[in-house]
Amino acid sequence: MSSEHELVDILLRAVNDKAVLRSNQVAALDPGWDVRNTQAAVATRPRNTEEVSAILKTCNQHGIPVVTHGGRTGLAGAAASAPGQIIMLTDRLEGGIDIDPMERVAVVSTAVTQQQLQEAAAEHGLSLGINTASRGSATIGGMISTNAGGMEAFRHGMMRQRLLGIEAVLADGSVISDLTRVPKANEGYDLKQLLCGAEGTLGVVTRAVIKLETAEPESSTTLLAVPGAASALRVMRTVQQTGGLLLCELMWNDYATTVAKTTGLSNVLAFCEDATAYLVVESSLAEEPLLKLFEPFFENGDVIDAVMAKSKSESAEIWRIREDSQAAYQLLKNPALFDISIPLRQLDTYMQGLQEHLRKMPGEITLHALAHLGDGNVHLSMGREAPWSENEKEALCIAVEQGVKDMGGAVSAEHGIGLDKLDAFHRNASTSNLIAMRAIKAALDPTGILNPGKVLPV
Ligand SMILES: Cc1cc2nc3c(=O)[nH]c(=O)nc-3n(C[C@H](O)[C@H](O)[C@H](O)COP(=O)(O)OP(=O)(O)OC[C@H]3O[C@@H](n4cnc5c(N)ncnc54)[C@H](O)[C@@H]3O)c2cc1C
Repeated sequence: MSSEHELVDILLRAVNDKAVLRSNQVAALDPGWDVRNTQAAVATRPRNTEEVSAILKTCNQHGIPVVTHGGRTGLAGAAASAPGQIIMLTDRLEGGIDIDPMERVAVVSTAVTQQQLQEAAAEHGLSLGINTASRGSATIGGMISTNAGGMEAFRHGMMRQRLLGIEAVLADGSVISDLTRVPKANEGYDLKQLLCGAEGTLGVVTRAVIKLETAEPESSTTLLAVPGAASALRVMRTVQQTGGLLLCELMWNDYATTVAKTTGLSNVLAFCEDATAYLVVESSLAEEPLLKLFEPFFENGDVIDAVMAKSKSESAEIWRIREDSQAAYQLLKNPALFDISIPLRQLDTYMQGLQEHLRKMPGEITLHALAHLGDGNVHLSMGREAPWSENEKEALCIAVEQGVKDMGGAVSAEHGIGLDKLDAFHRNASTSNLIAMRAIKAALDPTGILNPGKVLPV
């Protein structure tokens, strides 16, 4: 393992002193959502693609591992770094945001945050088409590298579907430049899609062309108390058929009531405190036709009760409960996080089966569950008083994964593999898929310097 002094020396062959951060400066960085992010002693902060290229070229020559960081909001340990590695900070990459409202594309530096691009797009009546609660910090580079999904993915797809072009630097310093800004382009293998979701293991993304959507006009927020996912899905489908469904999020009771209590918003759920789950519907329909749509569901029992936000602040309160997952997470002892996708028809059966399984496991397990309902992406946070032994943790993971692949779901939905989902991914992936992935990694990063140990174990 190279010492701090050696790493700094290697970096100074590529960039000037201002672009090199020593251990005291790295220690002062905010580690973001994962304390493992800033365990490396040395970081570098390039300003442009040429500097990224020079850094990777020299690191490749010396076999120094490089872990790229965006906004450090990743939830799978994909940006975790270790002593002997160099962190590549992308926050100073120049290029900003260049929007063409007629083409509805944005050419951006990957340092740009989701929120910055959302706000810039809104000035032209456009929208990014992706919306996550991490919007203030998550960068376009991180979102491409994790193929971010979020709440609008059921309408506009994940980052992969927004990506028209990419500029990236490979491990040897060579630059792939494909800033294509048209949706129809078939020019050989699609390298941008290879890097999308690669979690920094195949290259460092420096610029991108992103497809934008027309922004939605005014919308309304309704919170519905429902007896389960199957009922919520029937409500969702009906609103979806009108073309007026913008967002549709489901929160199971334990999650919603915990966040509401912790954030002082219990009044929001006072209309029906003991529902199995709560559905948040954001719709572009006017109040009257929307309420008319809900009417039959009150009669058949799919909806127990509902409230419609009467102001922006009431809407914000409902969304705070959905988005402030940290408020619930921080209360969990010995937390375990899961991010899976379940085909919609199986959602209720899967959740009931899982809850039953958890009841049979040792210790009382708290389960906080919420779903991006439109695409069946479920986030599960679990905790219990006693620490998990290795065997218990594995049994928990296997309980969560049980049947997911067979029913056509995915054991990692939108947070990626990183370090934390390695076991789940490798337990469930086919051998030939893994061989093909290893071949791609070996071809693009033969010395294995890019984010080693993530996605594929070293
Ligand atoms: C409150 C909260 C809510 C969230 N909600 C969602 C959600 O709804 N949907 C969703 O998909 N995710 C969600 N996330 C997870 C996270 O925000 C996304 O994974 C996001 O895309 C990560 O972006 P980042 O810039 O923070 O990347 P980081 O965390 O810094 O890095 C993530 C990965 O990308 C790599 N990387 C970063 N930048 C580059 C680059 N320029 N080139 C190459 N590799 C790079 C890193 O090496 C690492 O492997 C949420 C997170 C939080 C904290």
